[in-house]
Amino acid sequence: MIDVRILNGCQGVGFPRLLSHVLSHESPSELRVKPGTLNTRPQPSSLVFGVRPTLVTPPIGLHYHGGWKCTGGRGRGCIAITAAAVFHSLSQGNIVVLVSDEEIRNIFTEALGMMGSKVGSTAREPPRIYRVKDYRGCENSGVMCVGVEDAWMVEGISRAIQTLFIVDGGTSAAAQSRMGLWMEMDRRGLLLHRPLPSSNVLESLSDDDWRALDEKSLFLKIPKDTEMDEDARRGISSPEGNSKPVASLTINIISI
Ligand SMILES: [Zn+2]
Repeated sequence: MIDVRILNGCQGVGFPRLLSHVLSHESPSELRVKPGTLNTRPQPSSLVFGVRPTLVTPPIGLHYHGGWKCTGGRGRGCIAITAAAVFHSLSQGNIVVLVSDEEIRNIFTEALGMMGSKVGSTAREPPRIYRVKDYRGCENSGVMCVGVEDAWMVEGISRAIQTLFIVDGGTSAAAQSRMGLWMEMDRRGLLLHRPLPSSNVLESLSDDDWRALDEKSLFLKIPKDTEMDEDARRGISSPEGNSKPVASLTINIISI
């Protein structure tokens, strides 16, 4: 016999009617189930190791992109282009890219588009990129976590069923702390660490491409006067530069 009581301070919301409806439709005969015990053994009965996750980091130490020194910034620009180069080189297409901020998503998408246009691979589908918080509860056979911050890292890496790439790095304390963890996992053989090798696809990007990427997230040491030099060059070589005779003249005098 079930009795429904409504506690002080609470209101009845029709639950007794719902309960009586359920009870009136219940089978009168008792359900007979053999008693059993839950398996509470601490060790799982079988453990199948899959492919180890791959950690990809930007080139170690001082490095350059398009001839300009990579300063890393907050680590986003370099991580995003590193991830784009890896993604571009993958033959398998079923990889979902997870990020935790829009800046990385923008640079990654732009860099990947540039790489695609260099090799003329327009047939490839655009990458599926999600913020980790929008991908909760979902999973995919291949996942690439690009610069995912601490708060979302566990959520992100647990979305992969078979193949997991983690692209990480940076100079912030949080990033350095994560790198310490990855290096320890690497030492224990729990993941494969692959610093980005020099890649043809990155070398194929033009100076203008690098400038455009740097505008999205400052990570390259591009001298401020580079553009003036360019103007000066244009002033000599192309007629449109003549529209700015004073600037061209000044620069030309300096360059002499
Ligand atoms: Zn870099």
